[in-house]
Amino acid sequence: MRFFNLKNPDITTGFRDAVIRGLSPDMGLFMPEQIPLMEPDFFRRLPNMGLPEIAIRVGEKYTDEDIPRTELERICEDAFDFPVLLSTIDQNKQALELFHGPTAAFKDFGARFMAGCFRYFSAHDNTRTVVLVATSGDTGGAIASSFLGVENVDVIILYPSGKVSLLQENQLTTLGRNITALEVSGSFDDCQAMVKSALTTLDTKGRIRLTSANSINIARLIPQMFYYYYAIGQAGDGKVLSVPSGNFGNITAAAMAWKSGLPIQHLVAATNINKVVPDYLSTGVYSPAASLQTIANAMDVGSPNNFERFRYVFGNDLKRMRGEVSGYWFDDDQIRHHIHDEYRRSGYILDPHGAVASMGLDSYLDEYHGAAGIFVETAHPGKFTDVVEPLTGVPVEMPDSLKASVQGEKHSVLLQAGYSHLRDYITDRYLSG
Ligand SMILES: *Cc1c(COP(=O)(O)O)cnc(C)c1O
Repeated sequence: MRFFNLKNPDITTGFRDAVIRGLSPDMGLFMPEQIPLMEPDFFRRLPNMGLPEIAIRVGEKYTDEDIPRTELERICEDAFDFPVLLSTIDQNKQALELFHGPTAAFKDFGARFMAGCFRYFSAHDNTRTVVLVATSGDTGGAIASSFLGVENVDVIILYPSGKVSLLQENQLTTLGRNITALEVSGSFDDCQAMVKSALTTLDTKGRIRLTSANSINIARLIPQMFYYYYAIGQAGDGKVLSVPSGNFGNITAAAMAWKSGLPIQHLVAATNINKVVPDYLSTGVYSPAASLQTIANAMDVGSPNNFERFRYVFGNDLKRMRGEVSGYWFDDDQIRHHIHDEYRRSGYILDPHGAVASMGLDSYLDEYHGAAGIFVETAHPGKFTDVVEPLTGVPVEMPDSLKASVQGEKHSVLLQAGYSHLRDYITDRYLSG
């Protein structure tokens, strides 16, 4: 498979190059030249396939040029060694639980697959790779855990000071070794802008290779397709799928899976008050804005990174997008009420992100009677006990992975917002002397 630059479609490159660069020099996003149809035999066998097997069958379509099949098998088996669960809430509603990985959020899928690719690509490489990642909460932890100890690779995580939960902060700042956390006095958008500037303007004089592990990297997007095949394989055809969305990577992956033939009935793009895409679907006007802080903080994105890709899957055609996608948005009060109400109604404990998806699904099912659906639970409620426990009145049972990350000593480097500060940090550390 070749990948092209959405800004300049005439330039194509291979999987390895697209992954190592993250973003093209003109800040364009890489996209596969085609979204290949999966074979009828694949769909017939889907109900009996586990996630690693699905990952290999789908993944090889995209990586075949650069990763030998046996290597891809190893990457997928290592990356997806934890369960994906489909939990039934009632007869019309299931939760796709993507939080059973090591950092208890769905970002583990993309981060672990990407780290496996880097481990393979950097094994015979004499240039040090520095992976920059801006995080609004969960990405940083997943990348840190996945890349810990990968040789020849340093990870630098930028996170907005005071705007991630204590537990999320612990996951970023306590691992050490090849992982560094930069605590930026600013917003997630500031962090993201700093990373983008570094990637596009910093001259590293060939001494290091700078890349990004944000959801702009195609090696994070592709593995996010895998669990949608698994979910539909388990749940059956014709389900509505509601995805809690921030940078729109996860729902773009769902749209790509749909495009490859997966029988998803309809997509729901569910957001918090950062509602630029629901607004686009209702008004036809796309106007990115500054991000607003909410209790579903991993979705506090005013200018979604992956929107260009999402739009591309629908041929950049608003009418086609409207045919397949509905948008709903919810404020913090609604999220809180829903966590309370859903626990009373069904006994299911939602996290704030999953609650947005759950409400998105409910809203769609209210409008279109007879449909049934799956909402995506992207984080374990134990990551947000301060929000969730007062609403349900019961303690959340913590998974072992989260218990472990509360220990450990915090190490972060304080940084002012603004690209020049990041440039100076990287220059001092890698490029001077
Ligand atoms: C990142 C994240 C999201 C948003 O996913 P996007 O791919 O950015 O749309 C939703 N929920 C949780 C818990 C997340 O960490």
